[in-house]
Amino acid sequence: YFIVFEGIDGSGSSTQADLLHQYFLSQNQESVLSPEPSNGKIGKLLREFLANPPSFLSDDLFEQQMAYLFTADRHFHLYNNVDGVKKLVEQNINVITTRYYFSSLAYNGKTESDFHFVANLNQNFPPPDLLIYLDIPVDIALNRIGNRPFKEVYENKQKLTLVRQNFEKIIDEYKYPYLKIDACQKQTEIHQQIIDSLASTKYK
Ligand code: C5P
Repeated sequence: YFIVFEGIDGSGSSTQADLLHQYFLSQNQESVLSPEPSNGKIGKLLREFLANPPSFLSDDLFEQQMAYLFTADRHFHLYNNVDGVKKLVEQNINVITTRYYFSSLAYNGKTESDFHFVANLNQNFPPPDLLIYLDIPVDIALNRIGNRPFKEVYENKQKLTLVRQNFEKIIDEYKYPYLKIDACQKQTEIHQQIIDSLASTKYK
């Protein structure tokens, strides 16, 4: 299966993705944990830009350029013939990804027209088999991030408030299997809910 974790920064999606990955392995199921931005060249460039936005573009143009780069990176992540998601899933390996096109819409869809621009760029990517959205209030997420040494460009209240609103909108309209989980709960509780839901068809 192709499983995607989404949520604002500080929602704990990387932790939960890792716990699910370990769970699959403990069940003798093959599993690969693969983040977006990817570990490929475009993914590395994206992380560099997120940490240090280049000064040669205005804010709006930077957002657009990031949207294009994320799309290119996503294509590489899905379709490269070494460890692309598609190839792995075809071999019956579970692929767990932190972030997918939902993050692009949420992070780069600042206005209605930005949202459509990003939606157009991403319209040909396949939906995951399951989307897991970790929902958390912005203040709590920022508190958690505050404990980390290093802040990225989008880790501020104004930005994350908009991103969370966008996620809500996307989830409301989403027609494929998804799970929305209250990410304020304890790590172990969240993990258990995910496992329980995977075992049933509750999320459909
Ligand atoms: O998941 P992680 O926190 O490592 O993601 C790195 C950053 O990339 C996030 O903080 C988010 O701000 C940004 N991002 C984005 N658009 C995406 C995916 C990630 O702006 N499509």
